[in-house]
This record gives sequence, structure tokens and C-alpha cells, in this order.
Amino acid sequence: MTMATVTTPVRPSAATAAAIALDQAHVAHNYHPLPVVVEHAEGVWVTDVERRRLLDCLAAYSAVNFGHRHPRLVAAAKAQLDRVTLTSRAFHSAPLAPFCEALADLAGKQMVLPMNTGAEAVESGIKVARRWGEQVKGVEPGRAQIIVAGGNFHGRTTTIVGFSDDPDAREGFGPFTPGFVRVPFGDAQAVEAAITADTVAVLLEPVQGEAGVIIPPEDYLPRLREVTRREGVLLVVDEIQSGLGRTGATFQCDNACVVPDLYLLGKALGGGIVPVSAVVGDRDVLGVLTPGSHGSTFGGNPLAAAVGHEVVRMLQTGAYQAMARERGEQLAAGLHRLLGRGATAVRCIGLWAGIDVEPSVGTARQVCERLLELGVLAKDTHGQTVRLAPPLVISEAEVDHLLGAVETALG
Ligand SMILES: *Cc1c(COP(=O)(O)O)cnc(C)c1O
Repeated sequence: MTMATVTTPVRPSAATAAAIALDQAHVAHNYHPLPVVVEHAEGVWVTDVERRRLLDCLAAYSAVNFGHRHPRLVAAAKAQLDRVTLTSRAFHSAPLAPFCEALADLAGKQMVLPMNTGAEAVESGIKVARRWGEQVKGVEPGRAQIIVAGGNFHGRTTTIVGFSDDPDAREGFGPFTPGFVRVPFGDAQAVEAAITADTVAVLLEPVQGEAGVIIPPEDYLPRLREVTRREGVLLVVDEIQSGLGRTGATFQCDNACVVPDLYLLGKALGGGIVPVSAVVGDRDVLGVLTPGSHGSTFGGNPLAAAVGHEVVRMLQTGAYQAMARERGEQLAAGLHRLLGRGATAVRCIGLWAGIDVEPSVGTARQVCERLLELGVLAKDTHGQTVRLAPPLVISEAEVDHLLGAVETALG
């Protein structure tokens, strides 16, 4: 279909327009939100200031994997609010160690370094890998190298954007931290060729979310595991978006039958309530951290630990991972029918999809604006890709509703 049939442009009503004007005056413009002002949310649904009910198919980039305000998570948070919320790590707090034990156990590892945001987990993983390189592997101080992938997204700190290849993320923010080597994503051979005596780690996303749900060849992770083990290099996997159920397993690494040296976790670990992130690994790696060498005032706070522990308990049964697989199959089957009918490519894994929009239909942003008019929240990435990542608790009927809206928006 042609641009002439595009749905009417989003015309915000007075309440929405006023909220957006206030936002534009006082909130830094580091985002370009869709014209919707959310007031309330429950499960898979959000309600905006117009009292429209919208199906949330972004789920805060997978931070709301269990749905908005899941009763178990809200109860865990409320109970902890009535006890103690913040102690700093200057003292022990009752909820922290049990949370770390449970999370380590979920990952089949021994230890957890608790942090807050995803970017902090990545930064922490980089520091741990560098110190491990110097102290355990014997790399000369200041020479450690970390291999990363093209198209990566690991967060927004200066070090992290320094090894991104996205011009929007980098421009004006240099000088950048040295010590990173970038090779094409999905190419295990390129990683192997880039390894030197100074290489301490390979850091990558097992599926690149921000890049548009890019899924590497099946043998990519297993080959990286084999190469890194053979060469004495840490495999550090950023499962901040792919982990904790999204891809139909606890970790995407599970789907590839790979166990990395370090898992980087965040987003859904906070249950959509508080920022909770973590580096998870064994004592021989995480043990390089000593008192004073790393820290965070809020990292591992009692409220975060209580919510994170409940998230781990919910993942222990495998029920949410199964939901992602079942609803994911339904979503993938429906989206594949749109190939050649507004979509030029569809990539699905678990309950996670990237849809490349046929340019004659419009931009991915325009498709997301049409989806909003149709009552579905989704987000564009990199111009022509629409990303879908609904809460794992989405029902069969709601997936059908989503598929109908996508078909209309692409039509
Ligand atoms: C979101 C994300 C991050 C950064 O997490 P923040 O909490 O926004 O700092 C890092 N890595 C991946 C793969 C992500 O999706």
C-alpha cells in the first residue's frame, strides 16, 4: 500500500498536548517519545491521560517482563518498604545475601556483584575482566584488551559509548576509553583472529536487541565459548535484555547450551519496580574484587534485593520461560505471514521480534505511531525496524490483537 492510505497522523488531545509541552520545556531531549502520556498500568495494559487502554508491546525494553505491577513483586516491595530500604554496603542487610545466593544458583554460578543499572553491570564486568587479566592471566598493567561486536548496545556511559559504532551514541562525547577491539557480530572467526596475548575478554549480547533483534548463527556462541576457553579469555555475555525469560529460557546462553564466565543482568531483574543489575560469575573471576576496589551506594540495597529475589523465585519454576516460548511461537507464526505484505524481514526469538518495514509503507516510527492509534505501544529502532517485546504474561487473545494491529499498521 502507498503512503496515501496511511492512518491519520497522531493528533494529541488537550491533556496529552499539555503534558508533552511541559515535557519539552523541562525534560532533557535525550529521547523522542511517542505522543502518549501513561498514567496507570497493570499487567500487559497501560492507560493514558485520555483514558485510552493500550497494549504495552515494548515492556520498557524488557524491564517489565512480568507485566506491570505484578502482584507478587508489588507485595515483595511493599513488605520491604515497611522494614528497611537502604543501608549502603557499609553494613550487612538481611535481604542481600539470600538474593545473591538465589541469583547465583539460578545462573549455576557462585557469586553476585549487585549494581543498579545495566550500564553499571557492563562497566563492572569490564573492570572485573581487566583486573582478572592483570592479576590472574598476567597481562601487563594498562594493556588489557576486550573484544566487542559491531552493532553492540551495552549502555550509555562514556566508556561504553566509546566502543559503540552508532554515531548518534558517540558524537561529541569523546575522548573515549582505549582497550576495545570491535569485530563484526555473528562472526566467530573474526573474534578468534582478533585475540592476542593481551585479550582479557570477549563482551557481547547473545542477541542484539537495540540493533533490531539481530540473531547470530546457531554455532556462534558455542564457537566463542570454545575459542575463549582455549585461549584463556573470559566470555562475558550481556543478557540485560535477552536474559530472564525473554527468549524462552532463563538465559539466551541456555538456548545455545553455553555457560559464559560472567553474566551481565539488569532490566527485568528489577521487576519493573526498581533498577537492579548484577554481574554473576564464579569466585575465581569475581573474587578479584577486594574491599574498596569497586562499589555503589545503592547497589544491592534491601528494596532492590527483596524485589530481585522475588524475580528469581518467579523464574525458578520455568513458567515464564514457557510462556515466552508458547506466545513467541504464536507471534512468530503471525509475523511471518506479513513478509512481503509490509515487512521485508522478520526476526523472532522467544517473545521478542524485530520487523523490518518496507520503505514504501513508511518509517518504523510512522508504523509505531499508527500502532499507537490502534491501541498498541511499540518502539522503532534504527529507522526501519519495529521492535516488539510484550510482557511474558501476554495472553493468546492479546497476541492475536497485537498481530491484527501490526497487519493494519503495515497495510
Ligand atoms: C538496556 C541495555 C543496557 C543498559 O541498561 P541500562 O539500565 O539502560 O543502563 C545494556 N545492555 C543491553 C543489552 C541492554 O539492552
